[in-house]
Amino acid sequence: MKIIEVKLITLHVFIILQIVNVKAQVNPEICRYPLGMNGGQIQDEDISASSHWSESTAARFGRQIVFFHLSREKLLIRLHARLNFDNGDGDGAWCPDVMSEQDGLKEYLQVDLRSLHFITLVGTQGRHADGMGNEFAQKYRIKYSRDGNNWMSWRDRKGGQVIEGNRNAYDIVLKDLEPPIIARFVRFMPVTDHSMIVCMRVELYGCEWLDGLVSYSIPDGHQMIYRGLDVFFNDSVYDGLTSERLTKGLGQLTDGTWGLDDFLHSRIYGMWPGYDYVGWSNKTFPKGYVEMIFDFDHIRNFTSMKVHCNNMVSHRVRVFRQVTCFFRSGSEWEADPVTFRPAVSHMSQSANFVTVPLGDRTAKTIKCRFHFSDLWMLFSEVAFQSGSAVYNTSMNPRKPGHGPNIGPRDDPTHKLDDSNTRILIGCLVAIIAILMTIIVIILWRQVWQKMLEKASRRLLDDELTARLAIQTRAFSFHNSSSSSEGSSTPNSTYERIYPLCADYQEPSRLIRKLPEFAQSMENLGTVSQQKEEPPRSPRRALTASSDGAPHYAEADIISLQESSDGSVHSLTAVNINLFAGNDSSMREFPREKLAFKEKLGEGQFGEVHLCEADGMLDYLDEDLSIEGNSESPVLVAVKTLREDANKNARNDFLKEIRIMFRLRDPNIVRLLAVCVDTDPLCMITEYMENGDLNQFLCGLRLKKAVDEEKEEKEDGKDMVSYTKLIDMAVQIASGMKYLSSLNFVHRDLATRNCLVGKNYTIKIADFGMSRNLYRGDYYRIQGRAVLPIRWMSWESILLGKFTMASDVWAFGVTLWEILTLCKEQPYSQLSDEQVIENTGEFFRDQGKQVYLPKPPCCPDGVYSDLMLSCWKRNAKQRPSFEKIHTQLKESLA
Ligand code: AMP
Repeated sequence: MKIIEVKLITLHVFIILQIVNVKAQVNPEICRYPLGMNGGQIQDEDISASSHWSESTAARFGRQIVFFHLSREKLLIRLHARLNFDNGDGDGAWCPDVMSEQDGLKEYLQVDLRSLHFITLVGTQGRHADGMGNEFAQKYRIKYSRDGNNWMSWRDRKGGQVIEGNRNAYDIVLKDLEPPIIARFVRFMPVTDHSMIVCMRVELYGCEWLDGLVSYSIPDGHQMIYRGLDVFFNDSVYDGLTSERLTKGLGQLTDGTWGLDDFLHSRIYGMWPGYDYVGWSNKTFPKGYVEMIFDFDHIRNFTSMKVHCNNMVSHRVRVFRQVTCFFRSGSEWEADPVTFRPAVSHMSQSANFVTVPLGDRTAKTIKCRFHFSDLWMLFSEVAFQSGSAVYNTSMNPRKPGHGPNIGPRDDPTHKLDDSNTRILIGCLVAIIAILMTIIVIILWRQVWQKMLEKASRRLLDDELTARLAIQTRAFSFHNSSSSSEGSSTPNSTYERIYPLCADYQEPSRLIRKLPEFAQSMENLGTVSQQKEEPPRSPRRALTASSDGAPHYAEADIISLQESSDGSVHSLTAVNINLFAGNDSSMREFPREKLAFKEKLGEGQFGEVHLCEADGMLDYLDEDLSIEGNSESPVLVAVKTLREDANKNARNDFLKEIRIMFRLRDPNIVRLLAVCVDTDPLCMITEYMENGDLNQFLCGLRLKKAVDEEKEEKEDGKDMVSYTKLIDMAVQIASGMKYLSSLNFVHRDLATRNCLVGKNYTIKIADFGMSRNLYRGDYYRIQGRAVLPIRWMSWESILLGKFTMASDVWAFGVTLWEILTLCKEQPYSQLSDEQVIENTGEFFRDQGKQVYLPKPPCCPDGVYSDLMLSCWKRNAKQRPSFEKIHTQLKESLA
């Protein structure tokens, strides 16, 4: 529908533009293009002169430099450049030899335009010669010729020949030629009193004379006495021979000025009554017609003739009754003339063009007999259309292309046909109005759609009270620690270093591709003090090279910004329980008792090493059972902060220590002790022999159901049963149940962040992204947060909201990983962009969202009742970890 509308409008616009652009007769208002003295289209050989002062002031240097609207200073600079450019051997102007005659009739600068042109304007300029010259023509005349033999002096409408020229050597002076000239050759003839040397640069403006008419021959016009008033209908600007009949010239009928409806008034100020028209009285033409002969530059194929006629019936002036045109290409007139009778309106008294079809007749001369239909016949313009020649009102019709058109004159000497103009303007206004209406409707629809979507989102997810207009509240949990500890200024930039592997993406960049969120993400604002750090620890514990898993790839390092929002840092009672106190139970372990054994991996803060901790058992709380005896060293994992870590990273490291120290659950990795008295800071955690769950599962194969009890290996890989897998998931659910009891949101639950100990013991680790979200202290994505988008709920990605329910979403994905034995990345067939788009589909909830497929080993009930329920759009409808835990356990029963 819209396309059709647009096409129709385009068509209309096109048609109208065509009407506007293509005119059958020359319009002096438009025909004002520089003809090429300045632009170079006029060749040097076409510029000649009667004489020149020296070689450096020869005719070819008489090209005007056109720098309109330039200040004098700028003009000087441009002139300077131009002079240097084109006058390596010249002084930048034509200067004739010493002017020998008082009126300057002898000296001229001549331009050959190579074809007939309608010239409406001339420009002149003096010689500056880079400050060395000060010559210019104060006055000049113009002569012109159509054939190079017959020269006519240009006269203004009152007969004056001298044109006022320049007053200084810099400025360009433009003069309208009233009447315009139709010529091929033009001569500029300086007029001087010998008091100064004269130099000139010139330019001509106009367009090609497409009519091709070189002369018309008509009976001279008559005089009317109207109520005692003399009204002259003579052709006052005719440039040919004038006697009883005007011959070999052009005049008012080709000057581009169309008479007014009332012939008593003229378009041109100060002219006498009847000036615009050439007219004849019936009384002196006994045959009842006026004969006109039109001579053309060459044989042409004529399609039509347009005659602008007055039709002031009340004054006994009427459009001709009939016209008969004869054609001649050689010496004889052809026998079959064309006769045309215009449909004359008796009602309208307005002057108008009458189009006479000439039937594509070929001729070099046309003779037309215009028959009277009343006492008077008045013509103001006659134009011919031949071949495909048309005047284009928007482009310079002269070939090749020229500079910009010099705008219409200020004085309203000429006008387009009023009625046509009014229609065209009306059409254009109508089209603009239609277009505006369409645009408004489209915009309104979009706004309305957005409003609906927003409203439905509120209804469906009424817990989401957070607005999309996001302040600079930090995505990074590190802010709260920093701030609460008073160790960070609100605006300080925290550089959170993440290894950017395929599991972590920069959603803000991707979300921008979702149309309804593009704006929202704009609102998220740019990070005020974001900065990037060069890579320091380029690998996660598992890399593509180390385990072959493609989604744990080596990656860049990115940074996150610290929050400036104080509200995030306020701690609740529960938080205080979690974080407060003097950490009396947190024991400093003597680092010299740590014996390095091997490197286990590398994380966000630094490296993780396997160490023997001598005497560790003495440091442990009673509740902690760990293998070993007080004599033998205990194996521990030691996470060390990089030495080059900045203050914020250090604070975050300490914060993670505090968090972990308070978390005590069989399915949460236990922090045993710390080394924080001196650098490098270390946290000592229990050692999980089988590394992270992702890596662990990758190396396993699924047992068939019948072989559940068998311990076996296949292809060198250990086998694992479905029951064991579910058991692992139960353990994770149990650990998450514990965290949820503390209102503690992990934010990065995935197999990669779970560790595997002996006997398939699973413990949740990596609290790098975790934060307590009690009382709805939402964390929002901001800046260049790099997030595990394939594990994240739609609201975490789109709204930056992390809750227990979003942890449940991640648990669903983790369960899927477990049951597929981490053989592929979630949504592996989707690009990151497509994952974000899919997130948009979850948001839109139109049934187009793609869910992770049911793993082959997964029973339908577990998939539909549990896994899919973790990915419910409405966060409230997702199960709690308590329920998940129960459900999973029951599913094994
Ligand atoms: P993290 O900095 O916590 O992400 O740890 C990086 C990597 O070190 C993990 O992916 C594990 O492979 C390994 N790792 C971390 N902690 C332990 C641990 N307690 N026991 C065994 N391996 C660990």
